[in-house]
Amino acid sequence: MPTVQVRLHEPRSKGYPIHIEPGLIHKAGAALAPRFKGHAPFILSNPLVFGLWGKALEASLKKAGFGAPIWHLVPDGEKHKTFAQYQRALTALAQWGQGLSAKPLVLLLGGGVIGDLGGFVAATYKRGVPFVQIPTSLLSMVDSSVGGKLGIDFPSRGGLVKNLVGAFAQPEAVLIDPGMLATLDKRQLRSGLGEVVKTAVLFDPKLFATLERSIAGLLRPDPGLYTRVVAACVGHKARVVGLDEFDRRGQRALLNLGHTFGHAVESASQFRLLHGEGVAFGLACAADLAAQQGLLERGADGQMARLRGLLGALGLPLKLKRLPMARVLAAMAQDKKFEGEARFVLPKRLGSCVVHPLNGLGPARAVLASRFV
Ligand code: NAD
Ligand code: MG
Repeated sequence: MPTVQVRLHEPRSKGYPIHIEPGLIHKAGAALAPRFKGHAPFILSNPLVFGLWGKALEASLKKAGFGAPIWHLVPDGEKHKTFAQYQRALTALAQWGQGLSAKPLVLLLGGGVIGDLGGFVAATYKRGVPFVQIPTSLLSMVDSSVGGKLGIDFPSRGGLVKNLVGAFAQPEAVLIDPGMLATLDKRQLRSGLGEVVKTAVLFDPKLFATLERSIAGLLRPDPGLYTRVVAACVGHKARVVGLDEFDRRGQRALLNLGHTFGHAVESASQFRLLHGEGVAFGLACAADLAAQQGLLERGADGQMARLRGLLGALGLPLKLKRLPMARVLAAMAQDKKFEGEARFVLPKRLGSCVVHPLNGLGPARAVLASRFV
């Protein structure tokens, strides 16, 4: 089975494996048993994913000799990535964990919401207990389950701020079964592809070409194809995280390609746009801004046309219905990445991007205006 090893360069950090294999959910117990036999499994999930995949995970744990797991379900959706749900989950874990002689092993079965919230629960209970990410959405497979950023949305100044409270803590392992994408809603699947395309533009022209050739398989979704695509994406993310575990050295900032525009339209649309849809639109904007700033290398104009072609073929938005520009720019200015000047990650060509400082948001405004219909 393809395995990507995360190697962390910080002196006290230990790495972890990411296993990727169709059908892995049915072997999750066997994959975990060598290291975690004797631990008591506490599984966080949501009712939708639990209904689809809960039995499979439970059966595989049982087969491998684990005791019956405790389940804690968080209601589905970003609007439940809250302190109230964090507290409920922590309370359930504490209630159960206190009477236990074995160490708990927290398993996170779900998309990015479960991974972020449940990981934060595991990272803070008793100052941290071991947890394993079992991501089920494409976005969580290629992005949120790797890298150890955990947290919840939290109110400030009258609104909920995304990921305002959280921690860094790395999982013991990540188990990815691309077969689970079969039950994922198609719009969610396409949205996850926004992050996949982002990764290809940042680091991997070969992956980009694979995506161009594989539109039907990506949309079907074909588990064998996704095994290769997800392995490529997590390989890149693992390398960047290894160099910059705590987001302090600048490498991790590159992963924000398309995100400054993306977050702004996502938030201005009041989250009617999904994250990966915002990112896809943001990639088109970043390509425009790179051209306008004279950053594109010779021949890269054609590559940016291919980028627009790929996003379009995947059904991702290149243009958006007009959003209130003041709201978009306000969201952009609030973006935590602006410290003093506006900094955008922009492509020079496929596979090579740079952080580019801008004096003010004028150029970004012009780019946005031309992509609103
Ligand atoms: P999500 O967890 O809400 O999942 C999207 C929807 O798909 C949900 O309704 C979920 O129940 C459903 N779903 C998931 N897997 C399924 C499956 N196999 N079959 C059927 N339905 C399935 O959202 P997401 O897009 O996975 O993640 C978004 C979250 O991730 C955001 O909160 C974001 O902040 C966070 N995130 C974190 C990081 C990080 O580094 N920690 C990175 C990116 C995003
Ligand atoms: Mg993202």
